[in-house]
Amino acid sequence: MSTVYLIGAGPGDPGLLTVKAKWLIETCDVVVYDYLANKEFLKYARKDAEIIYVGKKGGDHTLPQDQINALIISKAKEGKSVARLKGGDPYVFGRGGEEAEELVEAGVAFEVVPGVTAGVAAPAYAGIPVTHRDHTTSVCFITGHEDPTKEESGHNWEVYAKSNSTLVFYMGVKNLPMIAGKLIAGGRDKSTPVALVRWGTRCNQQSMVSTLENVAADAEARQFAAPSIIIVGGVCSLADKLSWFEKKPLLGKGVVVTRAREQASDLADTLKHMGACVYEFPTITVEPLDDYEAVEQSILTLGGYDWVIFTSVNGVKHFWKQIEEIGLDTRVLGGISVAAIGPATADELKAHGITPDFVPARYVAEEIVEGLLKLDIAGKNVLIPRARVAREVLPEELAKAGAKVRILPVYETKLTQEDPTEIVTALEKGKISALTFTSSSTVENFFTLLAPETLKKFPNVKIACIGPVTAKTLERYGFTPDIQPKDYTIPGLAAALGKEL
Ligand code: SAH
Repeated sequence: MSTVYLIGAGPGDPGLLTVKAKWLIETCDVVVYDYLANKEFLKYARKDAEIIYVGKKGGDHTLPQDQINALIISKAKEGKSVARLKGGDPYVFGRGGEEAEELVEAGVAFEVVPGVTAGVAAPAYAGIPVTHRDHTTSVCFITGHEDPTKEESGHNWEVYAKSNSTLVFYMGVKNLPMIAGKLIAGGRDKSTPVALVRWGTRCNQQSMVSTLENVAADAEARQFAAPSIIIVGGVCSLADKLSWFEKKPLLGKGVVVTRAREQASDLADTLKHMGACVYEFPTITVEPLDDYEAVEQSILTLGGYDWVIFTSVNGVKHFWKQIEEIGLDTRVLGGISVAAIGPATADELKAHGITPDFVPARYVAEEIVEGLLKLDIAGKNVLIPRARVAREVLPEELAKAGAKVRILPVYETKLTQEDPTEIVTALEKGKISALTFTSSSTVENFFTLLAPETLKKFPNVKIACIGPVTAKTLERYGFTPDIQPKDYTIPGLAAALGKEL
């Protein structure tokens, strides 16, 4: 029989998962998760792991608690290790204690992995420290939603009201008028600041600050719904001064990333860090070739080349894979000059121990050729490992300048079969502010998966593209890019979105 891990999955920001929780998700046989636990963590699970959703959103219980317990126990008794993910911390209003008791009664071994609880994290992301020496000496976590079958309230409202404790209510939005009323009736000053934080730590976080007296009406006017944390106390007066998360330039803005999943993370991560709600819609997959004979031959005869020019991170990765496959290493490039077409490609080369001899300031074929001519490339033998189908400008320009160029396909890109329904629904709901295109093929493939006419129905959605070549391709489909960086790089594109969206 195996162990059940009751794991706190944190409040929503995927970065707030603990290292231990991640490791357990990666290793367990079964992963059980509910409504508040971020789905994004499922990507850490083993490919052969069994993944079970047990729901719970308001009253809509996908599986009743006793059945969840029975399920977890039966999986453990089959000898499987179970990662039971719960939102926030499992022992803070998460029924983790009840689940643990059942496990003990069933004789199943268990461990607890505490998580970052919403009652601390949501206020922190809204600029509210739950304790502060100027305001309070204690903090109290309270359920705003008592078990309705309970005969007598477990709350002593007078004690809450009379203490100077910061009061943090979970599950309390529906009962907000009652909560505020009881606290005022119990003697708390009606001008006490109260804050609500909805979807705390997520890209769609919203917060508001009011007073005990007005909060119920204010929250209703602003349609604050679950899941929200309610914070009562002087610490809420710091929200304005200490606000930081909601100042992120792209907070709450939906941005679609169309790059290949294998390379989407740099753009997606940067945008998420800027606060965006990122929709990954990969239009391209990067695939190895069927046959690497030509690549191997070129590697074995590299001595005949003066320059090797890499035009993409994938080009570097696939080239090195073959170098390693034939039992060689970076030394095969000894004595050969190496160029990278941009900073990301240069970084990938550095990871393989090569500091490129040339990296152009901007990705414009003419500039690259000019720079390489200064380094005497005319008349030299040049190898360009790259995608099977790619633009011919660089090789043509180099050939015109007198270099002897050989193009070497090392991988190919293919159209994905991604289903556009999620994107179309998000567009219809007004959740998307921008689409990003990082190459001509992302544009072409995107419009193969989703008709240009469909996108034209949403004229407010901004189109962002990496550079002039991609812009031209967009124009062929009838779109003029709204946002374009000056330096044609991924960080440049993210920065331009931050400024202009
Ligand atoms: N175990 C969880 C709490 C579960 S109770 C924890 O430790 O965080 C569910 C309640 O938690 C919701 O009704 C809401 O009040 C609060 N909550 C959970 N995640 C939240 C979030 N990201 N933002 C605001 N409130 C959240």
